[in-house]
Amino acid sequence: MILISGCLVGLDCRYDGTSEKEEQVLESLKSVPLVPVCPEQLGGLPTPRARAEIVGGDGHDVLANRARVLDETGKDVTISFIKGAAETLKLAQLLGIKEAYLKGKSPSCGSGTIWKRGQLVQGDGVCTALLSKNGIRITCV
Ligand code: SF4
Repeated sequence: MILISGCLVGLDCRYDGTSEKEEQVLESLKSVPLVPVCPEQLGGLPTPRARAEIVGGDGHDVLANRARVLDETGKDVTISFIKGAAETLKLAQLLGIKEAYLKGKSPSCGSGTIWKRGQLVQGDGVCTALLSKNGIRITCV
């Protein structure tokens, strides 16, 4: 069983109410049971919602209380991002999932690089940071 970002399977859960379905990835995983999740929705954020980014670090820094997540209106949505990551981890642990395919560049699901002020910078999203800290292997899509 593999956890996968909901937007990658075609759920319209992105901040702007769209998806980013990845047909090739789905084809390569067609024999594997997939568990789609959207950490930002699980954290209680609406869809559509204001675009957000991490300020002052990356997802690891958010978990360590050294950075915050702010949306484009300036609202602090850090608690929702941490809650969504925790709920995603809870689901993975309940189902014994050890592997996740997550959408790249997102402040939640990004792995290796995330968007900040319109540029890609090094770092992981909040959910990716929490899952990887707990031994879940991440594949960035
Ligand atoms: S990248 Fe992650 S948080 Fe963003 S819409 Fe996709 S599943 Fe949800």
